Amino acid sequence: MTAPRSVLFVPHGSPMFALHPGAAGAAMTQVAAQLATPRAIVVVSPHWDTVVPTVGFATRPETIHDFGGFDPRLYEMHYPATGCPEVAAQVVNALQTAGLPVVQDDQRGLDHGAWIPLRQMFPDADVPVVPLSVQSHLGPEHALRVGQALASLAQQGILVLASGNITHNLRDLMVVRMQGGATPAYVQTFADWIHTHLTARDVPSLLAYRQQAAGLRAQPTDEHLLPLFTALGAAGADAQAQAFYRGISEHVIAMDGYIFQ
Ligand code: ZN
Repeated sequence: MTAPRSVLFVPHGSPMFALHPGAAGAAMTQVAAQLATPRAIVVVSPHWDTVVPTVGFATRPETIHDFGGFDPRLYEMHYPATGCPEVAAQVVNALQTAGLPVVQDDQRGLDHGAWIPLRQMFPDADVPVVPLSVQSHLGPEHALRVGQALASLAQQGILVLASGNITHNLRDLMVVRMQGGATPAYVQTFADWIHTHLTARDVPSLLAYRQQAAGLRAQPTDEHLLPLFTALGAAGADAQAQAFYRGISEHVIAMDGYIFQ
């Protein structure tokens, strides 16, 4: 039996996901349990958005509660994983080798796009974590390139954990929360479109996702889909994406998660 390749795309939903993980959370716990314990986790979150790829070197990354007005219990949650400067240096080296500019950050902690999935998947916080930022202004091709630079790490027992959401229209989410309602058609349409093109590894179509009307509605801005491209790149050209969960939260947030094998 071959071990699963250590690249995952996971949803993080809204911060309330930490309190109500539901079926998506259970699937994330289960998929993590199937992995050989990683040496370290490189976590990519759209909530750390920088001009240049930036790698966290903190030895004790703090839990960042980067959201306001939510349930007080969320602010009491902490994810006490250690950092891993050694693996962070490997990430820097890999990005530099690929010709990408890179910055080190000695202070950066774990935002909710990072710690909420990590807490769900590795509740003992016993695997060191290295955060890596996204560059929303550089788009999907750059995110893919960053992932390709990480491919060698993914083959060395380091888990590349890309966190985002396949659909992420906050305006639609606000409307649903205030008025209730049903799931708009574009949510399933775009989640299905991603599933079809991801499992077929049709990278050119995926990169051009904004040419889809449903894609524009699902992602008014790129950042929550960019980690998917980083996962795709890190998984390598021959990897097969497999959905470990597909479902919709709060009518508009697709919680689909993928493992690349
Ligand atoms: Zn988010």
